[in-house]
Amino acid sequence: MKTTTQVLVIGGGVVGVSVLYHLTKLGWSDVMLVERSELTSGSTWHAAGGFHTLNGDTNMAALQGYTIKLYRELEEMTGLSCGLHHVGGVTLADNRDRFDMLVAERAKHRYMGLETEIIGPEEISKRAPVTNTDGIIGGLYDPLDGHLDPSGTTHAYAKAARMGGAEIVLHTRVTALDQRADGTWDVTTDKGVIHAEHVVNAAGLWAREVAAMAGVYAPLHPMEHQYLVTEEIPQIAEIIDAGGEHPHVMDPAGESYLRQEGRGLCIGFYEQPCRPWAVDGTPWDFGHELLPDDFDKIGDSVEFAYRRFPVLERAGVKSVIHGPFTFAPDGNPLVGPVPGMRNFWSACGVMAGFSQGGGVGLTLAQWMIDGEPDRDVTAMDVARYGDWITPGYTRPKVIENYQRRFSVSYPNEELPAARPYRTTPMHDIFEELGAVWGHQYGLEVPNYFAQGDEPTFETPSFRRSDAFAATGREVRAVREGVGINEVHNFGKFRVTGPRARAWLDRIMAGRIPKRGRIALTPMLSEKGRLLGDFTVSCLDDTCFQLTASYGAQAQHWRWFIHHQEPGVTIENISDKLTGFQIAGPRARDLLAACTRDATDLRFLDLAQMTVGQAACLVQRVSFTGDLGYEIYCDPMDQRALWTRLCEAGQPMGLAPFGMRAMMSLRLDRFFGAWMREFSPDYTPAETGMARFIKWDKDFIGKAAAEAERDTPPARTLAVFEVDADDADVVAYEPIFIDGRVQGFCTSGGYSHWTGKSIAYGLIPREQATPGLEVEIEILGDLRPARLLTDPIFDATGERMRA
Ligand SMILES: Cc1cc2nc3c(=O)[nH]c(=O)nc-3n(C[C@H](O)[C@H](O)[C@H](O)COP(=O)(O)OP(=O)(O)OC[C@H]3O[C@@H](n4cnc5c(N)ncnc54)[C@H](O)[C@@H]3O)c2cc1C
Repeated sequence: MKTTTQVLVIGGGVVGVSVLYHLTKLGWSDVMLVERSELTSGSTWHAAGGFHTLNGDTNMAALQGYTIKLYRELEEMTGLSCGLHHVGGVTLADNRDRFDMLVAERAKHRYMGLETEIIGPEEISKRAPVTNTDGIIGGLYDPLDGHLDPSGTTHAYAKAARMGGAEIVLHTRVTALDQRADGTWDVTTDKGVIHAEHVVNAAGLWAREVAAMAGVYAPLHPMEHQYLVTEEIPQIAEIIDAGGEHPHVMDPAGESYLRQEGRGLCIGFYEQPCRPWAVDGTPWDFGHELLPDDFDKIGDSVEFAYRRFPVLERAGVKSVIHGPFTFAPDGNPLVGPVPGMRNFWSACGVMAGFSQGGGVGLTLAQWMIDGEPDRDVTAMDVARYGDWITPGYTRPKVIENYQRRFSVSYPNEELPAARPYRTTPMHDIFEELGAVWGHQYGLEVPNYFAQGDEPTFETPSFRRSDAFAATGREVRAVREGVGINEVHNFGKFRVTGPRARAWLDRIMAGRIPKRGRIALTPMLSEKGRLLGDFTVSCLDDTCFQLTASYGAQAQHWRWFIHHQEPGVTIENISDKLTGFQIAGPRARDLLAACTRDATDLRFLDLAQMTVGQAACLVQRVSFTGDLGYEIYCDPMDQRALWTRLCEAGQPMGLAPFGMRAMMSLRLDRFFGAWMREFSPDYTPAETGMARFIKWDKDFIGKAAAEAERDTPPARTLAVFEVDADDADVVAYEPIFIDGRVQGFCTSGGYSHWTGKSIAYGLIPREQATPGLEVEIEILGDLRPARLLTDPIFDATGERMRA
C-alpha cells in the first residue's frame, strides 16, 4: 500500500470505483481507493441493478444517460461483463396528473435527444404483457432502461481504474482524518497512515461517519428497502424461450418497479410505512448481511401489485432482499467540494448508484481536475444545503422523499415534511394575513396571500393553479399602488477591507459601483459560465454588500472563500439582514411618509436612512420592474419597520405580495432569474448578461468571455408570447421552429398585468429575428408563440427609473 497519494477515495462501492475510474480517465493516475472490506460491501452488493434515465431534473437525466451509455465502454475496455440487459422500460400513468408528468418529461427528452415515447394501454400490453392495464391511461417508454449485475459492474469500474494507474486497497478501514495546515490530509487506517492531497468521501452507508471524521455533517440518511425475486413464471419463461426479454415496468400508483430476473420476476417497493435505518449511526461491523424479511411493511404494496401484475399472485417467492441505502433530503446525490473545507470532496447520498454513479464520478473528476464540472450540477451539489441542516431535518425529509419516490413532481408543489423550520419575525404576521407558504433553502417564504374563502393550500398542478386569482390581485396591487414583500430570501454578503474593491473587481465580471451606487454584475467561472448574477452595493470604498440567490449562498460562499485574498473579509449575512421591498407607483410616497431623510434616490442609488425607528439601508432597485426600493434592516427591528410601513401604506392601498406575484411581475420587463435564465449551464453572451461586463479590467473568466464576444455563441435567449390554454411554460419545453425542435424554454409563466402567457427560451442566434413564429410544446400540445422584442410593461424603463 502506498503511503502518499494525490487523491484518496474512501469506499469501494459503485460510486467510489466510478470516481476512481473517472479520475484516471481525465488524467490523474496518482490516485487510490481504500475499502474497509471487499468491493461492493455497502449497499452495492444487494442492489437490484436497475437503471433508467427518467429524472425531474434535466441535468440529472443527462448524467443518468451518460452513466447508462458508459457500461458498454467499460465492458469493451476491461473485457469484464457488466451483465447488461437493455430491455427498455415503461412508466405507467393511471391518472391525468401522472400522465401530464410523463408527457412533460417526453417533451424535455425531445431536445435532449432521448428516444422515449408515450404509448397507450394496448401497446403497453404488447410490450409488457404481464401488466394488467385496467385504468391505465398510458405510459412513457424508454428504450435505454435496463438492469445489470451490480458486482460485475463494480469490478469493471475497478479494473478500468487500475488500468489507468489507480491503486485499490481492500480490508483497510479509514479511522481518522486529520488536516495539515497546508490543506493536505493524514488519513489514518487500521493498516497505517496515508498522506493525501485530496480526500473523497464515497463511503455510502458510512458516509455520515466519514464526514464526521473531517468535522462536517453529511445530510443523508439510510432507509430500509425490500425487493422480492420469484420462482419461474410460465409467461416469462415463454418470452425467454422465444428469444425475448420482458421490459421493466414502473408503477407509481403501486410504488413498485418490476423486472425480469432469470425465468421469473423481481419486484421492489417504495412502501408508505417505510423505515429509516441506523438512525444513530451505521455500525462498523455491518457487512454482507441482509435485514430480516418484513412482509408486513410491504403488505399493501404487494396486494396492489397482485392486481397490476396478476402473474405474481401465483408465483412462489425465491428470495427476499431487504437492505439499507442512503438518501439526501431531496433524493439527489451530494457531490462536490464540501463548503468550508479544503480538499475534502463529497460523492455520497447516491440513491440510484447504477443510474447515477457514472455521472457522479465524471462530475467529481471534472471538478477536481478542471476546477468546475462541464454542466450545471446544482441539483446534486453538496452545497445546496447550508449549515442550517441537521439530522432532525434530514430524517423526516428523507422519509418523505422515499415515500414519494414514484410520486408526481409538480412544478408548484411545496413538500410539507420538517416544516416550518426557519422563519423570520414576520411569520405569524404573514400567517394572519393568509400567507400560503413556500420553502427555499430551509426558509419559509410566502408564495401568495389567500383572502376570503380562497384556498390556503395551493393544489399541486401542471396547469394554472388555484393561486391564480390571488397572484393576479397582488400583481395589480403593485402596478396600481404599492406592494410589499420580504427580502429575507436574498443571499447577502458583506465584503470589507482595504482590498475589497480590488478583490470584487477580480471576482465579478461587471463594474464595481462608486460609493452610494448599485451595479448588477455577472460572476463567471474560469470557463466563462455564469456562477451568479449579483447586485453589488458600495457603502464605502472598503465596504460592499452583495445580494444574489438565497438558495445559492453556500455555493457562492464556497467560491468566495476559495478565492479569498489577504486584506478582504467576507461575511455571509443572508440571515443577519432582512427587511422589505416596496414596489409600485406609490412606493416613493410610502418611503417618504416613513422617514425624515431625503428620499430622492435615483435608480440604483443607495442610502442609509432611519425608516420609522429602524436604521436601514435603502436601495432604489426592484425585481418587479416597477418603481421600487429594497429596505434592509436588522431582524430585531423588522416588526417595528413593518408596523410603520403598514400604517403609512394603508391609505395608499399597500398590499403584501408573494413569490408567485414576483415571478409574474418580472416577466413583464423580461428580467431573467437565477437557475432559470441564468445558471452555470449558460454564458453571458447567450443570456444577455454580457452587457454588464466591464471589459477593461481583469476578472475571472475574462478570456472565455472575450472569446465569446469575438465569436458569438450559437444560441441566444429570446422571449415569446404564447397562445396558451390553461397551462403556461415551466421550463425545458421544446421550441419548434419550422416544425423542428431547435430550442428549449428556460422559464415562463403568466403575466397577470398584461394578460399574456410568456416563455423565455434559448434558440439558434440566427433565428432570433423580429416576427419569428414558433411552436412550444406544453403538456403535449403544440402552442403557437411569437418572438417579442420589447418588454410588455414600461418598455423604456421610464417608470422603473422615474
Ligand atoms: C434493496 C436495494 C435495491 C436497490 N436497487 C437499486 C437499483 O435497482 N438500481 C440502483 O441504481 N440502485 C439500487 N439501489 C441503491 C444502490 O445500492 C446504491 O445507490 C449504491 O449501492 C450506492 O453505492 P455507494 O458506492 O455510494 O455506497 P456503498 O455501496 O454503501 O459503498 C460504500 C463503501 O464504502 C466502504 N467504506 C465505508 N466506510 C469506510 C471506511 N471508513 N474505510 C474504508 N471503506 C469504507 C464500505 O465498506 C462500502 O463498500 C438499491 C439498494 C437497495 C438497498
